[in-house]
Amino acid sequence: MNRADALARIRSETEPFDFVIVGGGATGLGAAVDAAARGHRVALLERDDYAKGTSSRSTKLVHGGVRYLRQGNISLVLEALRERGRLARNAPHLVRDLAFVIPSYSWWEGPFYGIGMKVYDQLAGKLGLAPSRMLDRAETIAQLPTVETEGLVGGVIYHDGQFDDARLAINLAQTAAGLGAAVVNHCAVAGLIKENGAVAGVRARDAETGDEFEVRARCVINATGVFVDELRRRDDATARDLVAVSQGIHLVLPKRFLPGDAAIMVPKTADGRVLFAVPWHDRVVVGTTDTPLARASVEPRALDEERAFVLEHARKYLATDPTGDDVLSVFAGLRPLVKAGDGADTAALSRDHTIVVSESGLVTITGGKWTTYRKMAEDVIDHAEMIAGVDNRRSPTETLRIHGWTEAEIAEPNLRPYGADAGGVAALIRSDAAYAARLHESLPYQLGEVVWHARHEMARTVEDVLARRTRALLLDARASIEAAPAVAACLARELGRDAAWAAAQVAAYTALARGYVFTDPASRAPASGPGPA
Ligand SMILES: Cc1cc2nc3c(=O)[nH]c(=O)nc-3n(C[C@H](O)[C@H](O)[C@H](O)COP(=O)(O)OP(=O)(O)OC[C@H]3O[C@@H](n4cnc5c(N)ncnc54)[C@H](O)[C@@H]3O)c2cc1C
Repeated sequence: MNRADALARIRSETEPFDFVIVGGGATGLGAAVDAAARGHRVALLERDDYAKGTSSRSTKLVHGGVRYLRQGNISLVLEALRERGRLARNAPHLVRDLAFVIPSYSWWEGPFYGIGMKVYDQLAGKLGLAPSRMLDRAETIAQLPTVETEGLVGGVIYHDGQFDDARLAINLAQTAAGLGAAVVNHCAVAGLIKENGAVAGVRARDAETGDEFEVRARCVINATGVFVDELRRRDDATARDLVAVSQGIHLVLPKRFLPGDAAIMVPKTADGRVLFAVPWHDRVVVGTTDTPLARASVEPRALDEERAFVLEHARKYLATDPTGDDVLSVFAGLRPLVKAGDGADTAALSRDHTIVVSESGLVTITGGKWTTYRKMAEDVIDHAEMIAGVDNRRSPTETLRIHGWTEAEIAEPNLRPYGADAGGVAALIRSDAAYAARLHESLPYQLGEVVWHARHEMARTVEDVLARRTRALLLDARASIEAAPAVAACLARELGRDAAWAAAQVAAYTALARGYVFTDPASRAPASGPGPA
């Protein structure tokens, strides 16, 4: 996957592409893979980096969604469970089976959730993981050695999937490129080209050079997440908002707060939310919230009340109360929820995906979730084929292996996320003594990986490396700031940049990563009472 080559191809193309896809998150990348796998000619333009938006900020679950089961949205759960099984088969290097325990603090909760989880097992059918079962108090503590034990009665254990969201996005970009799509990051769509009232392509702007150019297409697909309405209004200034923005935040804690292999799932907090504490890359990710916001931003920030909410609930369910000082990183993501009327409560808005085709033929897809990205992609390309007037072809992605696919056990734990590329990364690291250096003592990454990211994964900035090629920003925001100079120097060498570029990169990354450091002094207040309310 090479940015210069893809850009040159896009700019020199004389025939219109079948599809230009705008946005390189789960939705756009999935659409690029689907269309390219059907043999169509595809270009994808991402204004920042792949998964810079919501797609790197999820809870990292490949799940049917127990909350949707509670809401009675069986078809959504069913579809997501099917997709969970497919993703586990198509990207086994990134998806793993994880045990979740619902701890119960009153006699009725166990049987109540136990029955619910049996329904979940049934819906998953033959793509299901291990069956759920009730746990007594001792078994619950055995699964969750650090769970709050005061008032604990027992629990329910069930299985769901977990993944690395940004790594999957990079692998999808590689898959699309491998199938012949021209995918480019750091290249924004600034406007639409129209001919006789129909959308005929986009005006793009290369963020690295400032160059503007046109890309012609038979159909333009708007997959810009919470920003879909911006592009829709470039098409039709009178278009009404399709999307409501809901923010969800997570806190990342050291592994000692949840040392076992199982996650904690709280189906209903005191104010009706779902909360997870999930082991991930030797840390614990705790979240999330559902806060309606008036508008979307590229770098959303956790609100004080969101940090307080998550920290307070982590204290309720964990025997050792974490403080703000324990928090390694705070990250916020924005859900693109499809508006249904004027409801202010985003928790009740649709999590299903929606496809809208404008009068001039702009195809917009939004909503949904990471777990269902493949089905969303299949649906949108089915629609887009009609708009483009190209052959209607069957999607082969149900069984398409994603870049990195391997079922082999990878010896070096730190290289597992690379899947089939792990051998190549290891060989590159061995090729130069300097490449074995760790980026930081608190982070599991080596310098040679940065070289790999620049050469094979289209990393263009320090943030691309520390936030999405590695997950350093989420694993330890402070440590990632300390690692930035080494990454910048390495990238400068690889990309032919000078020292001034490297210094500017470090400054920009440091400013960004400071926003992930937990700074709320209120968090140092004494812990709330033991045991959940
Ligand atoms: C807090 C939270 C937790 C979640 N947890 C889960 C979970 O555990 N499991 C799950 O399945 N789902 C989860 N989701 C949902 C899932 O993350 C989203 O549904 C999915 O990532 C949305 O992807 P997207 O591609 O539509 O949007 P995005 O990832 O936001 O991608 C849109 C892209 O478009 C780009 N863009 C915008 N404007 C332009 C332009 N003009 N030109 C070019 N590019 C542009 C942006 O830079 C961005 O990269 C969660 C969501 C949130 C917010």
